Amino acid sequence: MSVKHVLGISGGKDSAALAIYMKDKHPELDVEYYSCDTGKELDETYELVEKLNSYLGKKIKEIVAVKPGEETPYETTFDHFLAEYGGYLPSSTARWCTKKLKLEPFETYIGEDPTISYVGIRGDEDREGYISKKQNVQSIFPFRKNIWSEDVIREVLNNRNISQLVVYYESISSNKETLQLASKPISLEFTLKQKLNTLLDIDIKLFNKVVFEYLKTTDYPIGKLDSFPLIDNDEIIVLADVYRILDDSGVGRPAYYNKKEYQVEIDGELKTGYYSRSRSGCFFCFYQQKIEWVWLYENHNALYLKAKEYEKEGYTWMEQETLEELSHPDRIKGIKKEHYTRTQRLSKKRKPTTWKDEIIEAEGMGCASCFI
Ligand code: SF4
Repeated sequence: MSVKHVLGISGGKDSAALAIYMKDKHPELDVEYYSCDTGKELDETYELVEKLNSYLGKKIKEIVAVKPGEETPYETTFDHFLAEYGGYLPSSTARWCTKKLKLEPFETYIGEDPTISYVGIRGDEDREGYISKKQNVQSIFPFRKNIWSEDVIREVLNNRNISQLVVYYESISSNKETLQLASKPISLEFTLKQKLNTLLDIDIKLFNKVVFEYLKTTDYPIGKLDSFPLIDNDEIIVLADVYRILDDSGVGRPAYYNKKEYQVEIDGELKTGYYSRSRSGCFFCFYQQKIEWVWLYENHNALYLKAKEYEKEGYTWMEQETLEELSHPDRIKGIKKEHYTRTQRLSKKRKPTTWKDEIIEAEGMGCASCFI
């Protein structure tokens, strides 16, 4: 049975690096690259997608819920759904944008074919990423030590499957310690996470081979393959590797990550701080930090004004503050002051603290569909 391999390009650095990585390391896999364009990304994101198109040697497929100009009179899919939601702006607690603009079009695109979806969550991140509810879609995380999704791990390491697990281990390894661990049941004293990490620490490739054997007895898409090259991959990719992959390929980093200088007066002294956007996604994304709104105001003023136009009839992007209020000079100064002081404090606490820590911190919040 044919199994589809897909990789979503969000416009962020990690999915871009993963696409490059998959092309370079696993050219034998026919990966389809896709992106769900909201029509509201930064220009830098569209530039990145263009560069990727030429590096990958195939076009990243654009998937949209409705085609502007054909299926809707609105200029973008975001505006189409905003009208459907009566002007109700999305927020972290009512995230209709991700559902309508990313997840639903993805699931329509996949259809009923068995599909493996490659997701660029890095080895230094502590988040799971979106797992499709559709039975025919399986997520794989090539950058992590554990490439499998939570549901697969829960299934494979379930106590009821211990004897099966041991049989698979025995067929590949005669190491007593490994067999003992494989047969040790999960309990309050030996959690699922501990068992997983211990087995991975012993031998990642061995663990992957065992999981692959197990999946052959299930309906998971990977179980339908004769071979799966990623089980022999024990590389762990962290943030520095992502930048290296982007730089070495010539694709480069999305330009919105480039730090820009700002100046702010604190106690009569002029201080120089640095700001940038910490992730991809819509220019008005409600997940951005206050300093990122200031960055948008000062570096993409036209987009800031567009974001402001959406704030009407009591709907705002942030709780308790409108974009009109945020752009007041005193407020901007206050946000910069707070940001400068916080980054200085952090850099004294954990040396060397850089934009890298800020990025990892910011990534903790938000939506894995938009920001990977
Ligand atoms: S980037 Fe933000 S606003 Fe855009 S779809 Fe994702 S969560 Fe929604």
